[in-house]
Amino acid sequence: MITETAISRSAYLMELEEQYGAHNYHPLPVVLEKGRGVHVWDVDGKVYFDFLSAYSAVNQGHCHPLIIDTLKKQAEKLTLTSRAFYNSVLGEYEKYMSEYFGYDKVLPMNTGVEAVETAMKLARRWAYQVKGVEEGKAVLIFADGNFHGRTIAAISASNDPSSYAGFGPHLGGIIRVPYNDVSALSKALENKNVAGFIVEPIQGEAGVNVPDEGYLMKCAHLCKEANVLFIADEVQTGLARTGKMLCCDHEDVRPDIVILGKALSGGVLPVSAVLADDEIMMTIKPGEHGSTYGGNPLACKVAMSALQVIKDENLVDNAFYLGKYFRKELEKIDHPLIKQVRGKGLLNAIVLDTEDEELGWNFCLRLAEKGLLAKPTHHYIIRLAPPLIITKTQLDECVAIIKETIEEF
Ligand code: PLP
Repeated sequence: MITETAISRSAYLMELEEQYGAHNYHPLPVVLEKGRGVHVWDVDGKVYFDFLSAYSAVNQGHCHPLIIDTLKKQAEKLTLTSRAFYNSVLGEYEKYMSEYFGYDKVLPMNTGVEAVETAMKLARRWAYQVKGVEEGKAVLIFADGNFHGRTIAAISASNDPSSYAGFGPHLGGIIRVPYNDVSALSKALENKNVAGFIVEPIQGEAGVNVPDEGYLMKCAHLCKEANVLFIADEVQTGLARTGKMLCCDHEDVRPDIVILGKALSGGVLPVSAVLADDEIMMTIKPGEHGSTYGGNPLACKVAMSALQVIKDENLVDNAFYLGKYFRKELEKIDHPLIKQVRGKGLLNAIVLDTEDEELGWNFCLRLAEKGLLAKPTHHYIIRLAPPLIITKTQLDECVAIIKETIEEF
C-alpha cells in the first residue's frame, strides 16, 4: 500500500497517479499545487515560470483575480441549467461573443475537440443543405501534421500513429493534404464534394510549425473560389497567443468558421465555442446538436471575463512585442544544439539539433530544476509559451535560464 509518510509528498502523489490513473500521459516529474500569474508552485514550495500555460489555456495567467472573482460570484448563483431552459447569462454571452469576433452566431461547447467536432458537423450539414452535395458524400480536408484532439473524428484526420493507431475503424469522408502546400490544396479542391478545409493557422502540437506568409490567405481564397468552407482551428493559436486576437488576423483572413477553446476560460473551466454566420449556423436545428454543459451560465460568465482581461490588459500587443523580443534573444544564444527558433507572438519553439530522443526530455528536466517548466513535443522540439501577462523583466530572467541550461549540454 502507498502511504505518504514512507516517501516524499511529491513521490506519494505521483505514485497515486501511477497506480490508480490511466497511463495516457507522461508528465514531467513535478507536482504542482498553486498558480498565480506566470508562476506555479510545487508541493515542496518550489516556484517555476510556466512556459507551457496548459497548452495555451492560461494565456491570462494562473488564477487571474478577475476571472476567479467572476467564477465565485456566478458559482454561488447558478451553475448549470442544461439547454432545456433559457438561462440569464447565455444570451448575454452570445451577444458578447458575436460582437467581440464579428460573427452572426456562436455555438457553445466545452472542450476544444468538441468544438472541432461541431465544426465538422456544421461543414457537412452546410454542404448538404446549402452547397448541394449529395447526402453521405461530403468530404473534409485536413492538413498533415494536424492535431485537433482525441475523439474518433479528430484522430481519423490525423497522420500521427500515436494518435490514430490501434483505434480504428476510422471515420470516412476525410482527406489530407501536406501542410503549407497551396497547390496540394488547390488540387484537392477539384473534388466537388468538399465541404470544408480545417486547418490550424500554426500547428502547435506538431511543434509550432509556422506556415509561409500568405499561406492562410491563399488557402482561404482557394476555398472561396471552390465554394468550400475555410475553417480555422484556433483552439491553441487564438485569443492573443500569437500576437493577434486570432492567428488568422496576421493575414487579414476571416475564416467561415472559427474554433476556439482553451484560453476562452483563462484555464478555469473547459469552455469552447464555434463561430459562424447564419448561412452555416442555421443549418443545425433544435435537437440536432449540443451538450449538457455547453453554454452553462458559469462558463459563459467566466468566458466573458477571460475575454475582457485579454482586451483590458492588452495581451495581444504584449504577446506581439514580447514575442518578437523573445525570439531575438533566443537567436542570440550561440549553441550547436539550437537548430532553429520559430514561432509567432508568444507561441514559440526551439528545435534541437539532435538524433537523441532523450535529449529534449532531459533538457526540460534541467529547465525545471532551474525553475522553468516546458515540455518537449516530438522529442526534440521545446515549445515555449508563457502566459501572455509576462513582463520583459521576467522574460529576460527566463532567457537567462534557457541559455544557462543549454550551455550544460
Ligand atoms: N485543436 C487544437 C489546435 C489543439 O491544440 C487542441 C489541444 O491541444 C485541441 C484542438 C483539442 O482541445 P481539447 O484538449 O480541449 O479537447
